[in-house]
Amino acid sequence: MTERKYKLRFGDKNLDDSASYILVSKYNVTPIILQARVDGGGGHLLLSLRGEEKNIKDATEHLNSIGIRTEPVEDHLKREEELCIDCGSCISVCPAEAFSLDLSTWDVRLDAKKCIACGLCVTTCPTHAVTLSKDL
Ligand code: SF4
Ligand code: SF4
Repeated sequence: MTERKYKLRFGDKNLDDSASYILVSKYNVTPIILQARVDGGGGHLLLSLRGEEKNIKDATEHLNSIGIRTEPVEDHLKREEELCIDCGSCISVCPAEAFSLDLSTWDVRLDAKKCIACGLCVTTCPTHAVTLSKDL
């Protein structure tokens, strides 16, 4: 069992429950909605997907094939390692515990798979080492 965070983008024709139905009934993947946004031309969902790694991969490929674009959140989060000064500010603000301190080296580690795209580390980082894509 694993957990991955994805953003799902809907067009105006598939803005319904079809994504949740496909994830649960066909692939045994449990979606938890972290964020939802709808506008006139469609919308997006930020989801935590729980299930077997292969099932999550197959399910997201299925959604892509029917016009519901899926993107791993981790692909949108970047840290410039050379800018990081290991100050630890991001550790204290991240609600998803994506940052941690390596006690053997005192380096701050990032596990981008845990990110829920709140943006707090971006605004907190004193050296602007962390960025989130604007289109997320
Ligand atoms: S806040 Fe920025 S500089 Fe400080 S540890 Fe985190 S990424 Fe590195
Ligand atoms: S954007 Fe939010 S959830 Fe993602 S790593 Fe930064 S603080 Fe953590």
